[in-house]
Amino acid sequence: MTPADGVRAALSRRGWVLRRRAGGGELVFTVSRAGEARALCAFSAAASPAGGLTPGARLRAAVAAGARLRAGEKEGLAELRDALDLLLESLRRREARPAGGAALAETHEGHEGRDLLLRTTFACNQRCAFCFVPMTGKGADLASIERELDAQARRAGPRGELTISGGEPAADPRLPAIVEAARARGFRRFVLQTNGVYLARPGLLETLSGLGVKTYLFSFHSHTAAGYDRVTGSRGQFPRAVAGLKRLLGAPGLGVTVNVVVNAHNHRELPELVDFIAGLGRGRPALYFSMINEVGHQKVPSWAVPLEDAAPFLRRAVARCRAHGFPVSRSGGESSFPACVFDAPARHASPRPLPQDRVRFTEDHSGEAGLIGRVKRPSCRACRYDARCVGVPARYARLFGLKGLGPGS
Ligand code: SF4
Repeated sequence: MTPADGVRAALSRRGWVLRRRAGGGELVFTVSRAGEARALCAFSAAASPAGGLTPGARLRAAVAAGARLRAGEKEGLAELRDALDLLLESLRRREARPAGGAALAETHEGHEGRDLLLRTTFACNQRCAFCFVPMTGKGADLASIERELDAQARRAGPRGELTISGGEPAADPRLPAIVEAARARGFRRFVLQTNGVYLARPGLLETLSGLGVKTYLFSFHSHTAAGYDRVTGSRGQFPRAVAGLKRLLGAPGLGVTVNVVVNAHNHRELPELVDFIAGLGRGRPALYFSMINEVGHQKVPSWAVPLEDAAPFLRRAVARCRAHGFPVSRSGGESSFPACVFDAPARHASPRPLPQDRVRFTEDHSGEAGLIGRVKRPSCRACRYDARCVGVPARYARLFGLKGLGPGS
């Protein structure tokens, strides 16, 4: 059964009709009983300017004001919402392939509210196996970057912050011009997601800093040349990445978070990786230990690692961070480890509630429910961090089960 068949089946079981409309930055599906004009419920998600799906957008459900649900309709709406979720997920995957060099704007729920992100290039000097970005090998065209900047500027809150990502944005000679174009639209704070290989270029860091790029999310997944080559699918770039990180750590006034995607090939070396970073200079980066996401679990399941195998090394790595005075980033969404994986979960849980609409509570990961979305254990409902945790990708649970999760695990 295709995802669309699932939606059709959920509708026909109850005799419902579904209508779709896009506008005002939203994609809305209204449900009504056959023969009735009045809506019963609406499911909505943030839409792209073209009326398509925004990557990272979530489906929200709202029963229409004054609607009286008949027996069984509440369960029917839950079933329909699951079916729509499956359908949207498959459409999102299709839409996430940028056509004709278009930039890709994303919104994510972060610690400080809605994070705006723009992918300005789909070219990268590396090929990390678990990367979820659809690479075309090209930079987005400037016209589409400007269009998406306009759209993101309309969504921007008072923080006026934009994350620039790719591909590898620092490899793009247009990067300073892109930041200037964002400044012209009111953005003042920038986060650059980078593997850092190009940051040692003379003058680049200073130029970016002068434009307000003061925060870096630096991908660094191994502290040995051989391990780095393996994880990044590249050759010989390790010394340049280390030089880039060293420069960042030595520059005044910059915030640096080192992002380590924990996987089957690097989890045992996490404590040593932290010590290696400490040896690069006096800078004090934050460390973000992230988990392979849903796409990564689908693409390269052999790179995934059971939580119970990774946990001892993660905990030792966190202890090394503490010894070096490095903050450890809290869980912040779908690329984060659940807090219960760590010692002292209170220090790792998200400080604020996270959207739960893609989370299922189940121990059954067979069938389609084990292919998309997020899962937690039924016992997670009793966890004090439940509302601040989005569990793990369903595909992870399908591979390894959920025995690595749970208060006190
Ligand atoms: S026990 Fe469940 S809700 Fe609590 S942190 Fe772990 S996965 Fe999240």
